[in-house]
Amino acid sequence: MAHISKAGVSPAPLANRTPIPNSATMTLTDRIADKRQDLVALTQDLIRIPTLNPPGEDYRTICDLIKKRLKSSGFETQLIRAYGTPGDSERYPRWNVIARREGTDQGDCVHFNSHHDVVEVGAGWTRDPFGADVEEDRIYGRGACDMKGGLAASIIATEAFIEEYAHFAGSIELSATADEESGGYGGVAYLAEHGFCDLDRVQHVIIPEPLNKDRICLGHRGGWWAEIETKGEIAHGSMPFLGDCAVRHMGAVLSAFEDKLFPAMATRHTDMPVVPDGARQSTMNINSIHGGQPEQGKDYTGLPAHCVPDSCRIVIDRRFLIEESLDGVRAEIIELLEHLKANRPDFDYELTEINSVTPSMTDRDAPVVQTVAQATEDVIGKPPSYVASPGSYDQKHIDRIGKLKNCIAYGPGVLELAHKPDERIGITDMLDSANVMGKSLETLLLPRD
Ligand SMILES: [Zn+2]
Repeated sequence: MAHISKAGVSPAPLANRTPIPNSATMTLTDRIADKRQDLVALTQDLIRIPTLNPPGEDYRTICDLIKKRLKSSGFETQLIRAYGTPGDSERYPRWNVIARREGTDQGDCVHFNSHHDVVEVGAGWTRDPFGADVEEDRIYGRGACDMKGGLAASIIATEAFIEEYAHFAGSIELSATADEESGGYGGVAYLAEHGFCDLDRVQHVIIPEPLNKDRICLGHRGGWWAEIETKGEIAHGSMPFLGDCAVRHMGAVLSAFEDKLFPAMATRHTDMPVVPDGARQSTMNINSIHGGQPEQGKDYTGLPAHCVPDSCRIVIDRRFLIEESLDGVRAEIIELLEHLKANRPDFDYELTEINSVTPSMTDRDAPVVQTVAQATEDVIGKPPSYVASPGSYDQKHIDRIGKLKNCIAYGPGVLELAHKPDERIGITDMLDSANVMGKSLETLLLPRD
């Protein structure tokens, strides 16, 4: 197994580094199986803290719980507030917790990163979203699969590993971070900016997002979000020829998208193993459109006034491939708008960038991929499939800011259940992926014969 730690951190001589299991008869798998009740209770405790984002509820409460737990398992723990990041306030502080346990010899650091925030509940539930009901092999609740089940599985796996092996090389880190559901700026991005994902500190990262226990997620597509406004001139609605209708100008923009942009995007396919198949090409969603006066709402029930709209705005969500560049994506849309400006009378626009995320893709030969793939095959009896995510997750910050390429998402849970009503996680799935995580720690942190 190739180490990707910085030069100079070479493993210590093998003398005295033979792993000493604490019990001659128990294996790591036995220990994890023994912790089933503990795993269920921990997952329930995590689900029962409603860490809703927005607005960023109870972040400190969940971090305190994880800190207390990992401290008693022998980890050095640190609470970190991402001061000044989007949404951070005295009412809704952006808290993160990071825990580290040093081994007895030099070696690599394996880091498990989970986000602790969950999305809104939404309609359609038949269970209490924060009740953490257990029925047969499932635990129900908002965040059960995305991703408190994965967080709990990684905690159980590392605790079992530490109990099983008094001596191991390197170190283990666990983090529970804020705001992944809103971009991760108060979570992993903040930690990465403050050196927590630097290569001299961390060498392998596993993010237990719900990708299914038999799949390894190598990365994700990029995204570019922007607002486009077309301009017009207000006039009386009975004499639109005296004004200039911004909504009609936006219609021309949408026509250009239909005629040129969407067909061009449909021809671009990626070698990234993105699932589902439909996302294996460039895509764009038009998130919203608004022109003219506000629609009739709760506060106003009268009739509209008659006006030609002088402004129309859309927000676009353009997802792009590793084979495309952010500059190219931006330029393609600006070119369409400039073409309209040159050819359509009175057309004018303003484009405001909202956010962007670059694609990330870990190499299949990377040590963490190889290790988790072998562990998955050992535990579930077949090689994993490799996937990439249509949307992004915190890998983007670890890659872009931390410059750490040896990172994957691997965790229990069915991706399609994330953010849905009656979200749930399978207990057997959590145990299986805890086993995969434990075996991966054995490969990465125990000396080989
Ligand atoms: Zn998630």
